[in-house]
Amino acid sequence: MLMNKSNHCRHLNIIFGDQLNRTSEIFHDLDLEQDIFWMAEVRAASLQPSSHKQRSLLFISAMRHFAQELRDDKIPIIYFTLDHGFETFSDALIHSVKECRPQKIRSVLPGEYAVLQALKQVCTAENIPLEILPDKHFISLPGEFTRWAKGKTEWRMEFWYRSLRKRTGILMEGSKPVGGDWNYDKNNRGHFDKYGPGMLKPALMFEMDEITRAAQNDIEKYFPNNAGVIKPDSTKSLTMHPFNSKSFKPISSNRENAKHDVTDFFGWAVTREQALELFDHFVQYHLPLFGEYQDAMWTHEPWLYHSRLSAAMNLKLLGPVDVLDCAEAAYRQGHAPLNAVEGFIRQILGWREYVRGVYWSMMPSWLEMNALDAQESLPDFYWTGDVDMNCLQQSLHQVLQHGYGHHIQRLMVTGLFAQLWQTNPREIHEWYLGMYVDAVEWVELPNVLGMSQYADGGAMASKPYIATGRYINTMSNYCDNCKYKPDESDTDDACPFTTLYWHFLEKHKERFEKHPRLGVQVKHLESMTAEKREAITQRVKQLRQRYPVGNY
Ligand SMILES: Cc1cc2nc3c(=O)[nH]c(=O)nc-3n(C[C@H](O)[C@H](O)[C@H](O)COP(=O)(O)OP(=O)(O)OC[C@H]3O[C@@H](n4cnc5c(N)ncnc54)[C@H](O)[C@@H]3O)c2cc1C
Ligand code: SF4
Repeated sequence: MLMNKSNHCRHLNIIFGDQLNRTSEIFHDLDLEQDIFWMAEVRAASLQPSSHKQRSLLFISAMRHFAQELRDDKIPIIYFTLDHGFETFSDALIHSVKECRPQKIRSVLPGEYAVLQALKQVCTAENIPLEILPDKHFISLPGEFTRWAKGKTEWRMEFWYRSLRKRTGILMEGSKPVGGDWNYDKNNRGHFDKYGPGMLKPALMFEMDEITRAAQNDIEKYFPNNAGVIKPDSTKSLTMHPFNSKSFKPISSNRENAKHDVTDFFGWAVTREQALELFDHFVQYHLPLFGEYQDAMWTHEPWLYHSRLSAAMNLKLLGPVDVLDCAEAAYRQGHAPLNAVEGFIRQILGWREYVRGVYWSMMPSWLEMNALDAQESLPDFYWTGDVDMNCLQQSLHQVLQHGYGHHIQRLMVTGLFAQLWQTNPREIHEWYLGMYVDAVEWVELPNVLGMSQYADGGAMASKPYIATGRYINTMSNYCDNCKYKPDESDTDDACPFTTLYWHFLEKHKERFEKHPRLGVQVKHLESMTAEKREAITQRVKQLRQRYPVGNY
């Protein structure tokens, strides 16, 4: 796979695994006689932190497909596979720099602060100029966020989102938001009745080609002990359906389909063509109910009405503009209601652009933040799914099977428990970064440390996202099959979320007693009898013994 053009080149153009877009700035100002593209698979990307096998396969297969496309277009490229044996990106780059002695190294801004630093260090050490190009995949550049954030004591996504709606004209009628409101969130908190979501259209999967199969063999060879599986157990996921991407056409919704053999299919798009099919599938079948049920959860239903697009978007196989324009058209053509389309657009134009702005404004200090002084280790069951709390068992099995959880599972099940457990933010950050197929630090870190763990003390979220087991009971059917009772806090059957919730407030009551929303809960805690508060404390001690830590 290594292609040597000459011993010297003008520009060495770096493409990282999450920069697989041909519209990227790196393809501008090219001289194919003198410039060489460069991509590398390195072991550290799958080992630090340890990465779910599907995540590694997704990145490596997508990178190899992209490199093949460049070769087909006669674009010179140096490509290191895992077989070349480089541990880190810097090792691989130094090797090539010594070989091609470029006049300049060019790269689009990486998705991770540490990678940018490594790139700078290599260039300084090798005395080669470095040009960092803007990442025009995004609708806003980090500078726009910095200007917007300047002088504001608190940042709130909603106002950033409105500013981008105004600037881009997306879902606008002149200067007014379509429908008169900026936000239809109040219509987007639906949960299913006791019959659940009913028939759901199976999720699109893609037939593995030779490139993906070879990458799969490499993942099994080099990272046999990493978490997760590449081939999900189809009987555990009723809505996973093998679907030949070349013959995408509507099929009748039928749960029996889900029992088909999925051995030769991969759940994630590894080319732009597949990413576009995934998006079409979402718009056609799931967008109309995306809004109403975006916070709902249901046993054995990992996808519900979610798009599964984050991985393809984060690898840049699909751009936000492609997606937002089509979603708006779906509303204007009457295919999907406004609450669904606005909700979807807000996730991408609002949240996705916002967290990226926040990431580049807060790094590198963010990694060290721990406003609530959380020092516990993450329980071992996060790596095995072997736990007696049904909500966590469901959500963690899903992560191990698919490398996926939708945002409420991430925020209000796995994230909530980690926060109530008072897990060290760095540990939970590394778990999220490794375990989800769509994890790239610019998007993972703000969501985990800012939104989910409140490690930044409220820079991103106005309060910690904490709740008792009652929230999970309202939004899912998980509690129906659980040995614990969501309403109880200090009995033998008490839901651990509920017990830990009150214990968390006990620890942080001074910090939150004057908080406009949490203050009421602190008052509620203080109205409990001393015996009850002591029983909660004792139960927390039992929980700490029940769920071991430190073996992973
Ligand atoms: C603790 C925690 C960790 C997270 N880690 C990641 C991560 O590593 N990578 C990642 O892409 N998203 C992350 N998210 C955001 C969100 O959970 C995922 O983007 C979403 O679940 C992906 O599934 P989907 O494509 O089906 O999304 P949908 O529910 O269909 O949403 C549509 C799209 O909106 C975007 N989006 C939605 N919510 C967010 C958000 N909060 N931040 C940024 N973009 C958003 C995504 O691009 C997503 O594909 C995290 C959220 C939380 C609470
Ligand atoms: S009772 Fe508690 S632990 Fe059990 S599923 Fe409900 S929220 Fe989860």
